[in-house]
Parts: sequence; structure tokens; C-alpha cells
Amino acid sequence: MNELLTFGEIGQSIEEMSENAMIWVAGVYGMVFGSFFTLLGLRLPRGESIVLPPSHCDACQRRLSWYELIPVFSWIGLRGRCRTCGVLVPMTYPMMELLCGAAFFLAALQWHWGLGFWIAAWSAVGFVAIAMTDVDQHRIPDAFLIPLTVGLLAFRLFDHPLPIWDYVLGGLAGMGLLWSIRAVSRGGMGLGDVKMFGYVGLLVGISGMVLTLVLAACLGVLAGIGLWFSRRMPSDHRVPFGPAIALAAMMVYLYGSGFLAQYWAIR
Ligand SMILES: [Zn+2]
Repeated sequence: MNELLTFGEIGQSIEEMSENAMIWVAGVYGMVFGSFFTLLGLRLPRGESIVLPPSHCDACQRRLSWYELIPVFSWIGLRGRCRTCGVLVPMTYPMMELLCGAAFFLAALQWHWGLGFWIAAWSAVGFVAIAMTDVDQHRIPDAFLIPLTVGLLAFRLFDHPLPIWDYVLGGLAGMGLLWSIRAVSRGGMGLGDVKMFGYVGLLVGISGMVLTLVLAACLGVLAGIGLWFSRRMPSDHRVPFGPAIALAAMMVYLYGSGFLAQYWAIR
């Protein structure tokens, strides 16, 4: 008797393969969406159209070819420079694309196409746009925050691993906490950061929100040190906090519940 696979075993291995493929496909989609929402975060708050003009080099105005528009890989292939004029393309763009891809990938690994994945994807693209605007213009527009928060609230009605009040209170407490930090630091934190923590609380609940604040503060300090040593610190010494909040919130959403469960178990 030959060792033939039964139909059931074949079916199972095909299912496993397609599950693996799905996770990588999600990662690729994440990079593509990351690329689009980076553009959105740059152009919309400047009052520019998203479709026109087509993607071009900001320095020499040359329109980019298709192979210069592949997320992450184009930047690596062209060594971070424009092909014709040689101007440096900010590393922020491929970083946003890569992080968004990673968020989609890790979320798919955990939830496949479940609602948990869609909440991660929704938050990741929103965070990309917010972080890009905050880096570019030092503000977080309500035009992004309001639709994002309304959408997340709708998601949360259907998917809430914690009781729903935990998320709602997390959002309110997050805004309250950041509001008091803002009052004490006398404008060291923007009003956009305060409102963004409403979103964060709704995303990760009360304990997750506190963990996000701690993590974001650490990331912010690290970014500040990095900018200082690479001599790229802005002249007014203000480092936008939005990107640190976004990265921290995403990390807590993806892995925070395990961390918090362990923390409470140790206590
Ligand atoms: Zn150029």
C-alpha cells in the first residue's frame, strides 16, 4: 500500500497553504494601503487633491514611473533618491509603508479575516495618515479623527473582547488623562494628541490605554534622543507625539492583552 494522502489530508494541507498565503497577501495589501494613506496624510491637510497631480518628485517635478511607486521596494531599489535629480526621498515614506504592512501581517496572523483584523487594518491606515500629517504639519486634523472614531465605535459594537464600557471609559479616561497632562505641561502636548487618546482608549480599553501612554512616552524619548544625535532635531525642539502614540497603540492592540494578563497574574 502506497503512502497516499487521503482527500481529507490533501484538503487540510491546501487549507494550511492558503492560510499562509493569506497572511502574506494581507502584508502586501498593508504596504499598498500604507502608501496610499501616507499620500492622503500629506496632501489632504494641505488642501491638495489625492489624485492630481499624479505622484511626482517634489524637487524636479518629474512624474514617477510605475516601478518607482512600489511600496518599500522602490525606495530600497533607488537607494532613497530620485532617479533624475538625486534628491533624498524622506525615509518616513517607506517606514510608514513597512509598518502598515507589518500591522496587517501580524493582525492576519492572529485573527485571519476576523473582525479583530479589520479593526487593526482600520486603525493602521488611520494612524498612518495621522502620523504623516503630524510629522508634516505638527497637527492632527479632526477631519481624520472624527470618521476614524465613528468607524471604530461601529466595529466595537460587534467586536469587544472586553466589556464595551471598558472601551468607552478607556476613550473618555484617555482624553481626560492627556488633557490634564496638557494643562500641567502648558501646551507641551497638542489638542490633537488629547483627542487621539479618545481613539486609543476605544481601541485598547482602559488598561491598554495606560500601557499605550507609557510606551508612547518611551518611544517619544527614544525618538528625541535619536533626532538629537543624528542632528535632525527641529529648531523649536518640538517632536510630534502622534507617531509615537500610533506605534504604541498598535503594539498594545496586537500584543498588549497577553502582556497585561501576565502583569495582573504576577501581581
Ligand atoms: Zn527629482
